[in-house]
Amino acid sequence: MSYDDNNIFAKILRGEIPCKKIYEDEFILSFYDINPQKKIHALVIPKGKYVDLDDFSQNASLNEMAGLLKGINIVAKKLGISLDGGEGYRVLSNIGENGGQEVPHLHFHLFGGEKIGKMVQ
Ligand code: 5GP
Repeated sequence: MSYDDNNIFAKILRGEIPCKKIYEDEFILSFYDINPQKKIHALVIPKGKYVDLDDFSQNASLNEMAGLLKGINIVAKKLGISLDGGEGYRVLSNIGENGGQEVPHLHFHLFGGEKIGKMVQ
């Protein structure tokens, strides 16, 4: 699947649609999910144009990969849900149709602030 420049997260990255920003650096943007599924529900997205985790794993640079992983930790710390002071959280990325992915720009969901419960319903 090729990258669709008109997906909603591409528009957020370009500043065409607002978001409740949590953190931004050269590699990632993080903001609150518009339809939170848990007490804390944040999204972390790479700035590069990657459809999903498969695309990212195959085509991103090592710097982008490190930036994304480190970014998730930075955001979790900022939200107070990492194990440095918080009580843990869940990271999830949906990939493709069977994975339930709706927005075709790679993103990680961070759920926290309460017990997240069963891994898969
Ligand atoms: P997916 O199902 O693709 O893994 O998750 C997409 C997520 O993006 C959903 O949780 C949905 O609520 C969120 N989302 C969709 N549109 C917007 C938007 O315009 N702004 C924000 N902040 N989140 C959005």
